[in-house]
Amino acid sequence: MLTAKMMSYMLVYGFKTIILRRKIPVIASVILTDLCNLHCKHCSVNNIERRIYSYDSVMRDIKTMYDKGARILMLYGGETMLWHDGEKSVSDIIRAARRMGYFNCNIVTNGTITLDIPEADTVLVSLDGGREKNDLIRGRT
Ligand code: SF4
Repeated sequence: MLTAKMMSYMLVYGFKTIILRRKIPVIASVILTDLCNLHCKHCSVNNIERRIYSYDSVMRDIKTMYDKGARILMLYGGETMLWHDGEKSVSDIIRAARRMGYFNCNIVTNGTITLDIPEADTVLVSLDGGREKNDLIRGRT
């Protein structure tokens, strides 16, 4: 649901980008890790460094994008739901981003790990076609 705050931000955003032709990001896409539990045939990004970015590093990136104007957050992996930093989970990142001022916080996942994440506005699950084609590419998911 659009709040008055979102509406006024988008009106100002539209004025700056359409009328004044300034380039301001509205979506921040942040990668949390390249770790993944799948080995999709087409994938060239999983488990290269098996890196899990720290909570502080992720929040720095999210703040940098916020300061540039982004208000919609997309969190990616690897497999996003494998991310953790000590006690911190993806839910903590979303809660902190919302406190910062992001209007909309979403995750992209392969859907193989419990999706107990009510903090997310949208959970996008990657598939590659119907069951037969998907399982050929992604394994039995
Ligand atoms: S789920 Fe995504 S990151 Fe993982 S192997 Fe498949 S395409 Fe790559």
